[in-house]
Amino acid sequence: MRVELAAVYGFCPGVRRAVAMVEAHLRGRGALSTLGAIVHNAQVVEELARKGARVVEDLSEVREGAVAVTAHGAGPGVYEEIRRRGLHLVDTTCPIVRRAQEAAHRLSEEGFTVLIYGEAAHPEVGGLLAWTGGRGLATLDPQEAGRVQGPRLALISQTTKDAEAFWEFAQAVTWESRGRLRELRALDTTCPETGRRYRAAQDLAQRVQAIFVVGSRNSANTRRLAEVVRATGVQTHFIESADEIRPDDLAGLSAVGVTAGASTPDEAVRAVLARLRELGGEP
Ligand code: SF4
Repeated sequence: MRVELAAVYGFCPGVRRAVAMVEAHLRGRGALSTLGAIVHNAQVVEELARKGARVVEDLSEVREGAVAVTAHGAGPGVYEEIRRRGLHLVDTTCPIVRRAQEAAHRLSEEGFTVLIYGEAAHPEVGGLLAWTGGRGLATLDPQEAGRVQGPRLALISQTTKDAEAFWEFAQAVTWESRGRLRELRALDTTCPETGRRYRAAQDLAQRVQAIFVVGSRNSANTRRLAEVVRATGVQTHFIESADEIRPDDLAGLSAVGVTAGASTPDEAVRAVLARLRELGGEP
């Protein structure tokens, strides 16, 4: 049985950078709090906790020391409070999220109402909204554009959304807003990394009979990756760890593939490859 790894899989550069920054702080300066989980993966969070990184949901839970902002970023109020309280900041905001925040801020300063294509409850979107200074709203429904007050509207996207879906949204908003707006601007702030994992998995699906998608069940990006794989028609197994692979899953197969979401660490993928080798797989 042949085992093939997707050409692009696992940690994206933004998450890899965030974990490395937190680990460097833990090694050099000791314990810190992180404002939310640094990555949506229970094993990585547990490992970091063992080394001294405590997850908090709110700054009020941090009395002293260092605090890390995650790759999803945070609003300007969070930075102000960290500065005012004299806490040490470890800012792991992904540079691609930072660009979206800058766009949200600049467009709102220029007088646009900023409509964010994304989920209002997502931490990254919360940060983007905060950067609009109260002149933004977030939605996935183009009809919401009807709620926008004022003649100028700007559209940006949550970074992990699909670029094509964002442009479809922009097209629908344009239609919904006809005759009401004087100016409409759309800025694609999506991140190419998510799409790269999808395309590599679709490509892999053409050469194998089954794909193991490795990642945490609480990771939205891994769940979506599993959906993309399933839609190709290939046999799909969404697993959190190597020990979920049963010999029966491989019965009669001559080629299987492996991919992983943007929040899945390399060790989890290595463990899956080792388990497949144990069960007769070869690279
Ligand atoms: S998915 Fe893209 S925007 Fe999000 S952390 Fe990774 S590199 Fe940054």
